Amino acid sequence: MTERSLVRWIRRARELGAAGARVVAPRDVVCADWVRMKCQFGCDGFGSSRLCPPHSPTPEQTRRVLDGYRRLLLVHCTHLADVTGLVVRLEREIFLDGCYRAFAWGAGPCRLCRGACQFEACRHPERARPAMEACGIDVFATARRAGFPIEVVRTRRDRRNYFGLVGVD
Ligand code: SF4
Repeated sequence: MTERSLVRWIRRARELGAAGARVVAPRDVVCADWVRMKCQFGCDGFGSSRLCPPHSPTPEQTRRVLDGYRRLLLVHCTHLADVTGLVVRLEREIFLDGCYRAFAWGAGPCRLCRGACQFEACRHPERARPAMEACGIDVFATARRAGFPIEVVRTRRDRRNYFGLVGVD
């Protein structure tokens, strides 16, 4: 994919509702073991679907997958509900553009089946993608490395920032 095409995908992410998007290299996406501890102890999504730990890829597996790409698109949104649908759409469009390895990571637990995940056979394989954090990606460190804003949310009034990722080529 040419640099010009990447600029087009950044623009497309904005058209689909993202606050912004940037191209990052695998080394700029940070994986860490502590992320899984946060899922396991303190998140009500733990074990709730095949997309969350302990069923989702470990940080080690994710590291290997990420390192198989040359370029990825980090997508910034200000509403959690927008993220996974948006990156899934980008994944599909980038795939149809010829990047056959296009793959999306979203944000948050899968809610598509409203708490009734069918673990063995996903009911919505075309829309269900694991969250970055569910796969051991340190979203804070990754967003900051790319120059995006992200802070711990302390009150309901605080601005929220959410991120998704698409492996491009
Ligand atoms: S779409 Fe449904 S079956 Fe598939 S991972 Fe999500 S909750 Fe589970």
